[in-house]
Amino acid sequence: MTIRKILIYPDDQLRSIATPIADPTSAEIGALIQDLADTMYDAPGVGLAAPQIGISLRIAVTDTHWRSGRYEGVGAGEGPDRRLNVWINPEILWRSDVLQTYEEGCLSLPEMFADVSRPAAIRLRWLDEHGNKHERDFEGFEAVALQHEFDHLDGRVFIDHLSVIKRKMIHRKLLKRKKMMISSEESA
Ligand SMILES: [Zn+2]
Repeated sequence: MTIRKILIYPDDQLRSIATPIADPTSAEIGALIQDLADTMYDAPGVGLAAPQIGISLRIAVTDTHWRSGRYEGVGAGEGPDRRLNVWINPEILWRSDVLQTYEEGCLSLPEMFADVSRPAAIRLRWLDEHGNKHERDFEGFEAVALQHEFDHLDGRVFIDHLSVIKRKMIHRKLLKRKKMMISSEESA
């Protein structure tokens, strides 16, 4: 079990375009999936993309199932409720014109939350950890979580969807916090 360090915005690595994975079944990718899952559940979060731990590959993990438990006060990511999903080389083939708005947050932008509007439904093609190809439609919170995670593969974060004023405000707060974190690490 390896908990990896999650990069905190602003960070250039969160802005790079990730590379497709050639062999989803390789031992390296297997280890990466394990690390992503361990780090996500430890955080805890409902999704984590490889660029968030500094790995520029097109892969993300989600577990939107235990979200309900988390918000109802049940221990996050614990026990049998875990349902890990692995998304390799995901492609959004279609997006609905109808939008939906959810309050989003991100492990790379700690304690920042904002309402984001995105297509309410998407059609997705992806590979799983066994290299099998899938195609399916998603809606509701799952569609939100997937679009959020796959944005990370293209160097985007959720605040990019906000107005310039809101984005600058959050950017400033995080920049300030990051400077404080770095100075406290240095003095430790
Ligand atoms: Zn995120």
